[in-house]
Amino acid sequence: MSEETNEEKINLLDLSAEGLKFLFNEMGEKPFRATQVLKWIHQYGVDDFDEMTNVSKALRERLKKVAEIKGPEVLEQHISDDGTVKWALRLNCGQAIETVFIPEKNRGTLCVSSQIGCVVDCSFCSTGAQGFNRNLSLAEIIGQVWFAMRYFGSAKVTGERKISNVVMMGMGEPLLNFKPVTQAMALLLDDNAYGLSKRRVTLSTSGIIPALDQLLDHVDVALALSLHAPNDELRDILVPVNKKYPIKDLLHSVQNYLDKSAAAKKVTVEYVMIDGVNDDIKYARQLAKILKGIPNKINLIPFNPFPNNDYRTSREETMRRFENELQSHGMIVTRRKTRGDDIDAACGQLVGQVNDRTRKEERKYKKSIKIQEIST
Ligand code: SF4
Repeated sequence: MSEETNEEKINLLDLSAEGLKFLFNEMGEKPFRATQVLKWIHQYGVDDFDEMTNVSKALRERLKKVAEIKGPEVLEQHISDDGTVKWALRLNCGQAIETVFIPEKNRGTLCVSSQIGCVVDCSFCSTGAQGFNRNLSLAEIIGQVWFAMRYFGSAKVTGERKISNVVMMGMGEPLLNFKPVTQAMALLLDDNAYGLSKRRVTLSTSGIIPALDQLLDHVDVALALSLHAPNDELRDILVPVNKKYPIKDLLHSVQNYLDKSAAAKKVTVEYVMIDGVNDDIKYARQLAKILKGIPNKINLIPFNPFPNNDYRTSREETMRRFENELQSHGMIVTRRKTRGDDIDAACGQLVGQVNDRTRKEERKYKKSIKIQEIST
């Protein structure tokens, strides 16, 4: 590798542990040097090679010539009354993604984005309503964790691990950005990087079956399923990817994952409660029926309203009845507390700044014209 080059520097946040070792090998350096640098970056949050005190000055100088450590820039930061923090992070392309930190009594969860926008286009989700621009790179995904760790201070320095859990549940469908997402999760689990337990890293998916079937070949993490409806007819509307990957096949794939995973002993089933759409008591019965035999925990999420969307949150009484019905079938049910809704950081409310490349508005307009034509 030429070190006297004007070529763009390699962002070391864009390299997996293996990638860093490969780079060091190319530079004629030993693998343990790569591990030292990996620790400085991901355990201490360092972005200046001169702070890497156990790395020789000569190597630091060589690294400065070819590499950099460059995280995202903060565009906006909002702190909710309940302590939830939401950041809009600007990427090199000028667009922005959102990352949310949710503090709880015994843990702190970071909700991480995987794409700029989302093509899945769930009808209850503001990210989907924005359209899609592109997948995030490894640097842009792990950079969210790196940034948040620097914000709170490295546990190696403060002695307190503020981020105990990471969920791939922000903007985007993580399984549609497979390689960078699995590489980022591998760094989250790596003892030389973030060192989180595999049960504390969760991938949430709308159900991209071929990718889910390969996940364990790359990384073993906890699993959440965005189900939101107990039958295909309803789920086709709420989660359109269901037309391609219907519920029966999806649950089969989930069961396979649970059978082989050491991290996921049960799947967390996400069910957003939308008034008059999926909150009828009959859907609770259907849900209990389809999940029978699959180790699971159902998480009921009150729908979080967003502009230009007509859905409303289910009534409290309806949610209670739904929950009771599930429990009467022996299901474990939790109700997600809405966190950070005063700063639009709640589930389904993340938007960032997305230049839609899917021409969603144009398609919507054509569709509405067609409906008008049919109805006149
Ligand atoms: S809920 Fe998830 S998969 Fe569905 S549109 Fe929103 S970000 Fe995409």
